[in-house]
Amino acid sequence: MKDFKAIDQLAKELHEDRSQLPYIEVRKGALQAITPYIREQGFRHITIIVDDNTWEAAGERIFHELEKHQIGGEVVLIKSNEHDQVLADEDAIVQVLVETSQQSNALIAVGTGTIHDITRFCSHKMNIPFLSVPTAASVDGYTSKGAPLILRGFKQTIQTASPIAVFADIDIIKKAPREMTAAGFGDILAKNTSLLDWKISHWINDEPYNGRAADLTRNSLQLCIDHVEEIAQADDEGIRLLMNALIESGLVMLLLNFSRSASGGEHHLSHYWEMDLLKRNAPQVLHGAKVGVATAIITELYQSYANDLDVFGANTGQIAEEIHHLYKPDQMTQWLQLVGGATTPYELGIDDDLVQKSLNEAFRLRDRYTGLYLINQAKSKEILYPVSKNIEL
Ligand SMILES: [Zn+2]
Repeated sequence: MKDFKAIDQLAKELHEDRSQLPYIEVRKGALQAITPYIREQGFRHITIIVDDNTWEAAGERIFHELEKHQIGGEVVLIKSNEHDQVLADEDAIVQVLVETSQQSNALIAVGTGTIHDITRFCSHKMNIPFLSVPTAASVDGYTSKGAPLILRGFKQTIQTASPIAVFADIDIIKKAPREMTAAGFGDILAKNTSLLDWKISHWINDEPYNGRAADLTRNSLQLCIDHVEEIAQADDEGIRLLMNALIESGLVMLLLNFSRSASGGEHHLSHYWEMDLLKRNAPQVLHGAKVGVATAIITELYQSYANDLDVFGANTGQIAEEIHHLYKPDQMTQWLQLVGGATTPYELGIDDDLVQKSLNEAFRLRDRYTGLYLINQAKSKEILYPVSKNIEL
């Protein structure tokens, strides 16, 4: 895994056994490596989890390839809901549990975040491993252990298992709908504020902080920004860089055993919006699409409060300095636009009232110190949206 040297170093520093991490191939033609890997593992019966789109994109090829090598198995085609979307909910989970044969040695998740979350939960419950085949560079959670599931209409993240191997085929991923790649870029852009929030929590609350992990994640962010044009064009190298960055961010979370490096106040806004969409039974929006838009909003909020000396307590100087170094919200919006992503909540079906509510309430979703939390503790008035409205106060 020559691409993930920095991860090897981090594993060493943390005294983590490198062999516990998934086997990973990110390259053109990576799909061809699946059957040899499965034979090497001695698996005889495989269950492939797909939806209509990912069956066509990659599932069918994997199935026939396995068949050709006398590896048996079945395909679970996850049914979509009334919005024509696949959700990681009770229906999907039960479908996988019912349709997977007792003889199955392993599952293969072929798809994006949702298919992976369904698969990782079922694999954990059935006590068999799973392989990851991402069909889009849309999210950094492929290698994570946490499965965000929608149970009785509420989102709940359950700790399960990470894949034993990831086969990310650039030929397939580059053909994913543009909005998916844009979502992946949005999830990487989030590191702009998540890394700062992690540091804030370290300073204010003495939360464990790992400089190497933070640097590694920051490098991934910088690399994607430096190659935003190639990502926008879905060029081989651009997509490979983005996919590597997403996988690397996921591996950092796996090694640290928490999501601090990758998720801060911007993810809290996104979760708040998502819960509202669920409550209204509205169509779901890609995780990274919400997170990208939320990152620009949170950054603007932090920048508008950076000069208010009371907000960040004893660490105001340090925090203000860090905020000063964040990318500017306008710049982020331009990048999001360039890669073909949404740039405003409105484009995602989220109205200004909900954004304003989330700015004042989303910090309660998780027991975590963030800039958003501190601003909410210190505020004398409701935070307004658009954020620029707060400045003249
Ligand atoms: Zn994320």
